[in-house]
Amino acid sequence: MKPFFEPGKTVIVSGIQSSGTLHIGNYFGAIRQHIALQQTHPSYYFIVNYHAMTTVQDAEQMKAHTLDAAITYLSLGFDPDKSNLFVQSDVPLLNELTWIFFCLTPVSHLEKSVAYKDKVAQGLSASCGLFNYPVLQAADILIYGGTLVPVGADQKQHIEMTRDIAQRFNNRFGELFPIPDAYIVESVATVPGVDSRKMSKSYGNTIGIFEEKASLTRRVRRIVTDSTPLEAPKDPDKDNVFALIRLFATPEKEAELREAYLRGGYGYGHAKQELIRLMLDYFETARERRRELLKNPDYVHDVLRQGAANARAVAGECMERVRELTGLITTYT
Ligand code: ADP
Repeated sequence: MKPFFEPGKTVIVSGIQSSGTLHIGNYFGAIRQHIALQQTHPSYYFIVNYHAMTTVQDAEQMKAHTLDAAITYLSLGFDPDKSNLFVQSDVPLLNELTWIFFCLTPVSHLEKSVAYKDKVAQGLSASCGLFNYPVLQAADILIYGGTLVPVGADQKQHIEMTRDIAQRFNNRFGELFPIPDAYIVESVATVPGVDSRKMSKSYGNTIGIFEEKASLTRRVRRIVTDSTPLEAPKDPDKDNVFALIRLFATPEKEAELREAYLRGGYGYGHAKQELIRLMLDYFETARERRRELLKNPDYVHDVLRQGAANARAVAGECMERVRELTGLITTYT
């Protein structure tokens, strides 16, 4: 059987939800790696609006978040000449593969999903969509022949499920899918939110990438710290503010602030001010680019259209092989 991808070639695949403003957890856990990897490998990055529907059920919000996610990627350095950025629902064939994968996935595997249990515990509605989320994700990765999936640590279990589904398909119907690996940068595997839980759109504890100074200040003030008095020495490795500072600071700045923490006389209020300065500085160029892109939505749509056309071509080839292997005959041309 002719593969629909080039054997041995690394193909990067990853998605980002359009369920709200993208935050610094998304950036350090995923987007930064996406942008770095596209320099050296063919990549497919998509805004997962089907997945987002598990929480966003308002058309205007869905459209706004989708466009905002695309603008965010482009502002942060995504290069549409090097790889593909598109909207998940622009490849409807995905739903066909998802169905086939449903038929191969034991319910008991999905019941073990930590992300699902977590989201339900946080009050999200336990819909079929939320429960089956990892199966759609497997189709998302495998339909483009993805071999490497840059994600945050929270997604590790889902990538394991994707590997399991690919193996099940290959064993049952014949070798077709490469078995993908997760690519997790351990130093930023989980970025904490302002309440010290994992930063997540679903928990309302995020700090947006492009937060304006006033709202950034409000968000940063909310970061939970312990009650060590200003003059006392503090352990930087047990503090949330420092965990975020580390992401933005140069090694020299990080060392300087670490020393200030350990010495004492340096309060969490000071650290929060430093974090705000570092963050505004870090995203300054991207912020400028974002202002330009907001004035040019046609360009953003063109990028998404081209990315989707490329993605549909690969997905189409994949599904031809899948139909042959599974005996789902097509009686029309
Ligand atoms: P959210 O939990 O905010 O809805 P998504 O599910 O859209 O985020 O995740 C998009 C990408 O960002 C995934 O690769 C995920 O692993 C990563 N990510 C999300 N939150 C964090 C975090 N707090 N730390 C590190 N990576 C994260």
